[in-house]
Amino acid sequence: MTVMPSRFETPFAETRGDRLDAISAHLFRPMGADGVYARTGLYEDMVDALGRLITRQRDPRAEVFRFPPVMTRAMLQKSGYLNSFPNLLGCVSCLHGTEREIRTLVDEHGPSGEWADALKSSDLILTPASCYPVYPIAAARGVVPETGYLFDVACDCFRREPSRDIDRLQSFRMREYVCVADPARIQSFREHWIERAKGLADRLALPYVVEVASDPFFGRAGQMMAASQKMQELKFELLIPVLSEDKPTACMSFNYHQDHFGKTWDLRDAAGEPSHTGCVAFGMDRLAVALFATHGVDVANWPVGVREALGV
Ligand code: ATP
Ligand code: ZN
Ligand code: MG
Repeated sequence: MTVMPSRFETPFAETRGDRLDAISAHLFRPMGADGVYARTGLYEDMVDALGRLITRQRDPRAEVFRFPPVMTRAMLQKSGYLNSFPNLLGCVSCLHGTEREIRTLVDEHGPSGEWADALKSSDLILTPASCYPVYPIAAARGVVPETGYLFDVACDCFRREPSRDIDRLQSFRMREYVCVADPARIQSFREHWIERAKGLADRLALPYVVEVASDPFFGRAGQMMAASQKMQELKFELLIPVLSEDKPTACMSFNYHQDHFGKTWDLRDAAGEPSHTGCVAFGMDRLAVALFATHGVDVANWPVGVREALGV
């Protein structure tokens, strides 16, 4: 047997895989669909504590928005999501028609389940990432100030990627810091956050690596987009070995969109140049799962420094 050198400074516990089922029983209850779970108090307290820790890192200039779990289909379409990740998108469909039509449908086809065939898409989709709604809000203000904008955003996100793995949910929480500014400011925002995130992972005693990454673009054309994204180093991820060391879990991502959203939403500086944007995304559920997978479910026995950092 050859032993692969570890990418992680802290050795990965070989037995962790076996423990995950047991840990998961403390954190989640099934709700009949893979990646859709009821969350226990133990788990939610940790998500809250992580949220407070992230809030303490917030730049005082950042403006806060909390978004609902839905946004308009038109807005998402304009953002370009449909080309990149059509397979992950979930849309809100409803029964349309008069009261009588809906009543008849439910009476006749309710029990068989065929009523679902009559669903028609509405103007809403399930938000797949928490920064999408913020760009049109910023754009509505007109010229982007020279110092740019900083936002603190969050929402429940949906992605149609059902999995039995506890680190891949269909419904999960995302928190982000978003920067709208000139390219140099976005680069330094991202560099600052990569360092800051490493510091946070250190304080939480989580083993990690930060690596260049790509988004899971759809289809064959998507593979080329992913390769180009990697080559340009537009995305980095902070990866933590939750399930295994070979396939560590992306718990935070650091994204540079160049002028994509600037052009899409007509975000421009005083000289008319399209703004650049970047975001650092915290996968709140993945971070919580990573903490329990690393330190166990008995929070009272976690390292003192970790408990202090989280205030638990
Ligand atoms: P992955 O590489 O694991 O597919 P991603 O690159 O698609 O994730 P991003 O689009 O960068 O992820 O989303 C920001 C963050 O949201 C991720 O770093 C991760 O922490 C979290 N996240 C993404 N997808 C999921 C999911 N299915 N379940 C839980 N958290 C997720
Ligand atoms: Zn984002
Ligand atoms: Mg990824």
